[in-house]
Amino acid sequence: MPLTGIEIYKHLPKTNCKKCGFPTCLAFAMRLAQQAVELSLCPDMSEEGKAALEAASRPPIRLVSIGTSENKVEVGNEVVLFRHEKTFYHPPGLMLRLRDSEESGTIAQKVNQLQGYGVERIGMKLTLNGFAVQNVSGGGQRFASAVGLAKRADLPLVLMSPDPDAMEAALKVAAGQRPLLYAATKDNLEKMVALAKEYRCPLAIYEPAGLSELATLSEQVSKAGVEDIVLDPGVRGFADSLAALTQIRRLALRKNFRPLGYPVITFPGEAVSSPEEEALLAGQQVAKYAGIVVLDHFDPALAYPLLTVRQNIYTDPQKPIQVTPGIYPINSPKDDSPLLITTNFSLTYFSVAGEVEASGFPSWLLVADTEGLSVLTSWAAGKFDAEKITKTVRGNEVSSSLPHRTLIIPGAVATLSGELEDELSGWKILVGPRDAVDIGNYLKRTWAPMARPSAPVAR
Ligand code: SF4
Repeated sequence: MPLTGIEIYKHLPKTNCKKCGFPTCLAFAMRLAQQAVELSLCPDMSEEGKAALEAASRPPIRLVSIGTSENKVEVGNEVVLFRHEKTFYHPPGLMLRLRDSEESGTIAQKVNQLQGYGVERIGMKLTLNGFAVQNVSGGGQRFASAVGLAKRADLPLVLMSPDPDAMEAALKVAAGQRPLLYAATKDNLEKMVALAKEYRCPLAIYEPAGLSELATLSEQVSKAGVEDIVLDPGVRGFADSLAALTQIRRLALRKNFRPLGYPVITFPGEAVSSPEEEALLAGQQVAKYAGIVVLDHFDPALAYPLLTVRQNIYTDPQKPIQVTPGIYPINSPKDDSPLLITTNFSLTYFSVAGEVEASGFPSWLLVADTEGLSVLTSWAAGKFDAEKITKTVRGNEVSSSLPHRTLIIPGAVATLSGELEDELSGWKILVGPRDAVDIGNYLKRTWAPMARPSAPVAR
């Protein structure tokens, strides 16, 4: 169990010196109990006090890094069961499995395909994270050569073999890249621990017999000197995976049960009958509560929704993703091009901007500062009303000087049009479509027949 503030206070120097930034030792102790500050902020702690409080200052789920380059994956260190309680911090690593039984040309092709894949969504580049290379052939040489092919992508690696000799052969190829070693079991524990220590790598442990057996194994690994641990409880299906991963997360966070306070690795492809089902199970595990997800199939049509789910879950619900307010020229607009206004919630902005761009109409897109809220939410919160829109139009050099003095507002706030014509005197207010997807048709129907059309650009 985590220590309470009073229990922590007993171990502090009790001088109220304020060096930690808090007015009293008790105030610092209370924040420490909430795991909101680091113990190291108090410079006057005795060694005994530090040792006693170590448990209170350690994160309940250890942060584990895989890889060393800028592409490294960091998983764990989560502090809540539900995203809305605070946020989830470290998105699960999505790894594609390669088998060393495959032809080298096939492996190289998969590596190139994944390396070249990436999609942009709401201003962020989304990709899968790396490769899990499995020793199916049984031979160390073939395994090492498959790892060599995967290593070319300079992405994080999971090395999968039950055989310590084959693992060492692969580690010599991937030395310095800090791959995750999968997996230590009761049978190979000593040798796998020795390899993890020698090559300074994180170590996964596999124990399907039950969570208490898994915890016993993780304690053995930890006592042997390897702290960067990833857990595989051996569950594979939808229901048992959800139950086991939730139980592990609850025990780590609510009971502060250290032996299960590590990220979890999953293999959704092992329990399903199609790539589509694999993507569904992977989505479930991204939500609850995988740290590394190893996929058996790569298809851009399935990867994109999975990346979207991950992005949506691993954004801070208290900080909407925003774009900078201002005016954005799309398709090289001129003075006679339409002026549309929207809010600075990223998803709204990118949906609208994408549709305007696809329409081919040179246009001006004016983005109001609504603190990252969408159109309807910001309107309901009084952050996208007639006064705000007027200020935004008048406060921008380009929009305020457009000679046509026509503003297209989102259809969802059509109710503002009358008030806006009063506030923005001399301006004509047009009500655009409710949905961004209808913008192209709207511009064709409404703007093009007017006296000041901007011809769509050639596409
Ligand atoms: Fe107390 Fe340490 Fe903070 Fe000083 S720095 S007030 S001794 S907790």
